[in-house]
Amino acid sequence: MLKVLQNLMQVQSVDVRLNAVRARLAIFPKRLAEFDARVAGARAEVDHSKAAQLATIKERKTYELDVEQWKEKVRKYRDQTSQIKTNEAYKALQHEVQMAEAEIAKAEDRLLEQMVAGEEYDRRIKISERTLKEVEETVRGERSRVEVEKAAAEKELAELTAERTRLATEIPEDMRDHYERIAKKHNGVSLAEVRDEKCTACGMRVRPHVFQEMRRANSEEMFHCETCTRILYYIEPAAAAAPTGASAASAPAPVSTSSES
Ligand SMILES: [Zn+2]
Repeated sequence: MLKVLQNLMQVQSVDVRLNAVRARLAIFPKRLAEFDARVAGARAEVDHSKAAQLATIKERKTYELDVEQWKEKVRKYRDQTSQIKTNEAYKALQHEVQMAEAEIAKAEDRLLEQMVAGEEYDRRIKISERTLKEVEETVRGERSRVEVEKAAAEKELAELTAERTRLATEIPEDMRDHYERIAKKHNGVSLAEVRDEKCTACGMRVRPHVFQEMRRANSEEMFHCETCTRILYYIEPAAAAAPTGASAASAPAPVSTSSES
């Protein structure tokens, strides 16, 4: 096999891993944002309960004031009773007193409702605060695990990038450009293995004479798939490469070092 093809295969193997690492790194912002969203959600629940509590306290004060005002009215009506001359006027005043007392009762009912609601909000605030604490704790643990994963992925990215730079220097520039051009078209995968006389990337059959030439150990040519244009390579199956039955049993790895990548 061509030396440059072997080098390209190494580059491609690194590129495949680089793509995987980049894909892994790309989802970290989303995962970290999810943590923020979970904490924000739990905090919003606390804020919501506290706001509701505050509203009940305000309403309670209004109803308290209502009760006071109606009671004040009743007192005034009672004071007026002594000056009443006619039976009609007395009845009318009595009616006013009854109305005011009904209003007092209504306001007191509402006041009681607000107090019950207030207790409910107290309970909700306590629960939501406890939940927030739990969420914060869980998220803290999960976040630190994700940060460790992220750091490992970043380290791997740096190592692979360095490895790729090193491998690329061994390949002539025009060949590098050629590789990059094809890779760009095919999601970063520029090379395709030939198996069963077919391009494994697109499934297109390789012409018999091309396949014959590819199988020659000292082939000097580089072939491309006629359909997808990827650079083709062929690795002789290990069993077929072993010349005798005895050596095949003892040496499962290919003996020829030239086809090792
Ligand atoms: Zn193809």
